[in-house]
Amino acid sequence: KEQLYAEIRNLPSVTRDGVPISMQLNCGLLIDLPHLHASGAEGIGLYRTEIPFMVRSSYPDVQAQTDLYSRIMDEAGDKPVIFRTLDVGGDKMLPYMTGGEEENPALGWRAVRIGLDHPSLLRQQLRALLLAAAGRSLSVMFPMIAEVAEFDAARRLLDMELKRLAVQGVAPPERLRVGTMIEVPALLWQLPALLPRLDFLSVGSNDLTQYLFAADRGNPRTSNRYDPLSPAMLCLLRRLVDECGKHRVSLSLCGEMAGRPLDAMALIGLGFRTLSMSPPSVGPVKTMLRSLEVAALRQYMSGLYLGADHSLRDKLRSFAKDHG
Ligand code: PEP
Ligand code: MG
Repeated sequence: KEQLYAEIRNLPSVTRDGVPISMQLNCGLLIDLPHLHASGAEGIGLYRTEIPFMVRSSYPDVQAQTDLYSRIMDEAGDKPVIFRTLDVGGDKMLPYMTGGEEENPALGWRAVRIGLDHPSLLRQQLRALLLAAAGRSLSVMFPMIAEVAEFDAARRLLDMELKRLAVQGVAPPERLRVGTMIEVPALLWQLPALLPRLDFLSVGSNDLTQYLFAADRGNPRTSNRYDPLSPAMLCLLRRLVDECGKHRVSLSLCGEMAGRPLDAMALIGLGFRTLSMSPPSVGPVKTMLRSLEVAALRQYMSGLYLGADHSLRDKLRSFAKDHG
C-alpha cells in the first residue's frame, strides 16, 4: 500500500468523474512540514499553533513566534497555510499558564476565549503572524468561536495590529484572509450574519460532534457513541455546504473525519471540495476519491432518508462496495 500511495502522490486529486478535491494537511510542528511536499497536498488547511507552545517551558515572545511562523511560511513556499490562533485550554493546558481547575474543561476557558480575555496574548500572536507574513499571503483562523460578536472582537484585534504595523512602516501581507472554525453549534444559527464577514470557514468536526451530541471526545465511553455519519451531523453539514455556497465562502473540514476514507467520501457527496487531514491519511483518502463517481454518490445520498437511523455508515459502505 505504501508503494501505491507513493505512486498516486503526483497524480491529480480528482474524482473519476472529474471533480477536483483540494487535499490539505493538518500540521503543528516544523517537522510535519516535509510531509507537505512529500504528500502532494495543496497546502496546510490547519496549522495548530498551540503545539509549539505546548512543548516549551515558557510563553514565547513576539520575536520567537515571528521566527517560527516565518520558517513555516518559508518551508511551505507557495503552498498556502492557514494559521489557527492559540487553541489551548480544555485538554491542552500549557504548563506555564493555568486558569485554575475547571469542573468542565471542554466547556471552559479555552481557545479564543482566553485570547479575548487577555487580548495582549492574542495580539502578540497576531502581530507575530503579520510580521512573518509581511509582503506575502496570510490566512488566520480563530478557534472555538461561539458567536459573531466574538469573531468581530477577534477581528478587531487583528485590525489593531495591522494599523500598528502600518504606523511602524511594516509592509502588510500581500493578501490577508480571515476565517473561523465552526466547532460550537450556536454558530450554526448565526450564519446569515457570520458568513458575509468571512473569507473561509472550516468545520472542526471533532469538537463540533462533541458539543452537538454532548459527548466528551476524550472519554472512551462517549467518544464513539455518536457517529459523525449520523442524520443530525449530515443534515448540519449539508446545510453548511448550501449556506457557504450562497455566500461564496470557502468551506473545508479539518476534523479527523476528513482523514477517514468512508467519511471523506460522504463529505464529498455532501458537496465538500476541501478536506484537511493528518499526513498519513492523504494516501488512503486520495485512493478513495480517485475511484469515486461524485454524481452517482450525490444521487444515492439525496435518496437517503436522514431520519431515524443511528448512523448512515452501513448504507454508505454498501454504496462504496457496489461502486468499487
Ligand atoms: C476539531 O475540533 O475538529 C479540530 C480540528 O480542532 P482540534 O482537534 O485541534 O480541537
Ligand atoms: Mg477543535
